[in-house]
Amino acid sequence: MSQSDPDQTSRLSLATIAVTAGRPPREPGAPVNPLISLNSTFVSRATPPPGQAAYARYDNPSHHGAEQVIGLLEGGSRSAVLFSSGMAAIDAAISLIPPGGRLVMPSHAYNGTIALAQELAATGRIALTLVGIDQTDQVRQALAGGPGLDPAAMLWIETPTNPLLEVADAAAFVTAARSVGALVAVDNTLATPVFQRPLEWGADLVVHSASKYFGGHSDLLAGAVVAANSEADTALRAFRRVHGATPSAMDVFLLLRGIRTLPLRMERIGASALTLARLLESHPAVERVRYPGLESDPAFTLAKSQMTGAGGIIAIEVHGGPAKADALAARTKLWVPATSLGGVESMLERRRRWPAESGDVPDNLLRLSVGLELPDDLWHDLDQGLR
Ligand SMILES: *Cc1c(COP(=O)(O)O)cnc(C)c1O
Repeated sequence: MSQSDPDQTSRLSLATIAVTAGRPPREPGAPVNPLISLNSTFVSRATPPPGQAAYARYDNPSHHGAEQVIGLLEGGSRSAVLFSSGMAAIDAAISLIPPGGRLVMPSHAYNGTIALAQELAATGRIALTLVGIDQTDQVRQALAGGPGLDPAAMLWIETPTNPLLEVADAAAFVTAARSVGALVAVDNTLATPVFQRPLEWGADLVVHSASKYFGGHSDLLAGAVVAANSEADTALRAFRRVHGATPSAMDVFLLLRGIRTLPLRMERIGASALTLARLLESHPAVERVRYPGLESDPAFTLAKSQMTGAGGIIAIEVHGGPAKADALAARTKLWVPATSLGGVESMLERRRRWPAESGDVPDNLLRLSVGLELPDDLWHDLDQGLR
């Protein structure tokens, strides 16, 4: 990939970086896009130069474009490490905790993340403390530890949380984590770097399910981690190599293609979500709307101080309980009843239909992932379903 001047790149807008970075060197006759290298192995070199592919599980030249763009979008000084799914990326990030070290994690984090942490805690690989991520004092105490409880080794931040949309006080938590020497990892899947950039808060790791907004078209699985320092970056690449969680060249091709329009999509998605959240707030069939961009939301002020937009996920609680929520999901014609989020197509889902979902999530809560259809059309579809 072309080595762009980092000083110049850091002055560019995200929309420009998303389009221009991660391309082959601009030479007469050169391809505009990175080539897709469908190769498991490469002819041996006498001494393999660092950064050159030898076997595709270690490194694949067709990944470098997407790795570079994600690193730059997050404002990092190094490329992202790509994984075969968001969960594989989360597994790699958690592996940086030393044996027996304690992980502090929001009790309302993505349910797969919690399941993984609980599994690792059950085998003794890590110790685990679950906290309310919007309870700042509780998080501070959990980080510090106490009699018989070591200080935390890692703080996991998910903000906003999926699907309750609580917002973490990132600046306060990074300071508290630093003071006990804990690493800070942020799952930035919901906000994307378009709306918040955790490395600027001082986070050590930014983690993504790239299957969501980065890919953006519900057609691939991938994960990414951007590390703030080279030690963590090296450890993540070593973990991927040994655990084999490398994505395929075709998925990464689709991923980079999706990322080219990420800032444009997020701008439209954020604006549509705010419009819909406001309309939903005054709908008689809706009991509660959670969206950090609404002035009535408890997280509004905090979200405004650390995010440049509230994103594309809205949670609504429907009057009449889970049956009414399911009925709405079944009656919409544009909104797709499906799990996942972040695609161009709007989706909705009653989260408690999953047995693994936290009991704290109301059973009449629908998570809405706003896509790129016109907000007017989306509103009429919801309104007819709610009536
Ligand atoms: C979907 C999701 C994940 C898991 O990512 P996969 O790509 O499905 O493995 C992790 N965190 C959040 C916030 C998610 O929404």
